[in-house]
Amino acid sequence: MTTVAFRNSEILGRAALIACGIRPGKTESCASCAAKAEGLLRIAGTGALDALAAAICRSRVGGSCAECTAKATAILELAGAAE
Ligand SMILES: [Zn+2]
Ligand SMILES: [Zn+2]
Repeated sequence: MTTVAFRNSEILGRAALIACGIRPGKTESCASCAAKAEGLLRIAGTGALDALAAAICRSRVGGSCAECTAKATAILELAGAAE
């Protein structure tokens, strides 16, 4: 719990952007995704892909979808690279 690689604001920003949805020309996530990025990275640190996808999907209607699973995979890779 003391490993704080996620303090890196660049990693946080990238995680937020992934969760928000990467689009051409988009460089920042919305405030809501920025706020949950740290929590998402914490889940990513546990390696739980399903839980991560569910957490990303929670802000939307419906269950964890393929898009959010793809986002979760990207954030897992990001978190792994941060260590
Ligand atoms: Zn967003
Ligand atoms: Zn989804």
